[in-house]
Amino acid sequence: MKQTNLTILGSTGSIGTQALEIVRANPGQFRVIALTGNSNWKLLAEQVNEFRPEIAVLTDETNAELFRTAVRDSDITLMFGNAELAAVAGTARHDMVLNALVGFSGFIPTLSALEAGHKVALANKESLVVGGELLSGYVNKRHDRIIPVDSEHSAILQCLVGEPCKEVEKLTITASGGPFRTWSLEQMNKITVKDALNHPNWDMGAKITIDSATMMNKGLEIIEAHWFFDIPPEKIDAVVHPQSIIHSMVTFTDGSTKAQMGVPDMKLPIHYALTYPGRQYLDTPRLDWSKAQQLTFEPVDYERFPCLKLAVDALAEGGLAPAILNASNEIAVARFLNGEISYIDIARVVRHCLENRDSSEEVTIDNLIHTDKETRVKAKAFRA
Ligand code: NDP
Ligand code: MG
Repeated sequence: MKQTNLTILGSTGSIGTQALEIVRANPGQFRVIALTGNSNWKLLAEQVNEFRPEIAVLTDETNAELFRTAVRDSDITLMFGNAELAAVAGTARHDMVLNALVGFSGFIPTLSALEAGHKVALANKESLVVGGELLSGYVNKRHDRIIPVDSEHSAILQCLVGEPCKEVEKLTITASGGPFRTWSLEQMNKITVKDALNHPNWDMGAKITIDSATMMNKGLEIIEAHWFFDIPPEKIDAVVHPQSIIHSMVTFTDGSTKAQMGVPDMKLPIHYALTYPGRQYLDTPRLDWSKAQQLTFEPVDYERFPCLKLAVDALAEGGLAPAILNASNEIAVARFLNGEISYIDIARVVRHCLENRDSSEEVTIDNLIHTDKETRVKAKAFRA
């Protein structure tokens, strides 16, 4: 088996650390070329000391000196800042880049890796949400340039293997419904940060956990699916499936529906992306079909989860609308986590930014960066 030279952007996060667990459990299969972290210099230093990559990048330079001292091997190149991160994504000696960064910070590194001809295993859904139009040139029928890590998109890819893409009638993206699936609008007025961080099925980074609680995550995933699979928005639906066993489904023109199932464990889709188009042994828990259990489905509720509707509308509108949606959501989530605004204000901030904008600009890298910056200022200033 050929060893994969792997770079992990965001190795200190939830996806990044799980990817390193896979690397650790499969000695000889991967060689780590570069690792990156933002603020968690201690964990990054531990990872660097264990995996001995060629390069490590710490983007937040506040603790640069402490990080330098904590790295034992002087042969490892240490770099600092976001420009270096994007440069490493393009220039390091890797076969594959796993982009496990969170938010808009992931977009330029994705572009940089793809432009340089590398394969990208993409967990950073925000890359496709904001810049799908610019990245779509790298999406092909074999799905071997940008490979999805998000569990729903991994499920769709697994359902599509060996199928004619033109016979796809519908993609159905499953959603757990998050912690507030059964809460009334009145109860939702009183949601605390602790309530929102308590996801029933998945243990993830803070931003995506809040996105799951508002169901913005499902909206972002619909946009992501549109660009990953080149399927028009009207052929992509979301359905609530509280058990998170079916990770998504594809219906074909003959009426047949394929579903991919597995325990809710991100190691499975991460590993699939790293070994795609192959499939290799992974030591994860198996579903036990000998036990009585139920798989249930409910329609999504736009009234209680307005963020999902805002995302669907932003996709229909196209252009820079998804970038505005994303930037305003990133700020609203950060403000909610800081205790500045309430849970229901998150949708208000996003709506405000989408309604008060200049929508005429075309999607270019410069316009995306400018729109992202400008929207963040607006979202920070908005008094809910
Ligand atoms: P985390 O917040 O756990 O990790 C994010 C990583 O990005 C960390 O390494 C962090 O560094 C780094 N980072 C944060 N901000 C910046 C920045 N401004 N510049 C450079 N690096 C930065 O996120 P997750 O692992 O949960 O999510 C990563 C991506 O994967 C997201 O797009 C998410 O939507 C997607 N995803 C995650 C899933 C999950 O189960 N977690 C499931 C499906 C998709 P540090 O910690 O050192 O500050
Ligand atoms: Mg997902």
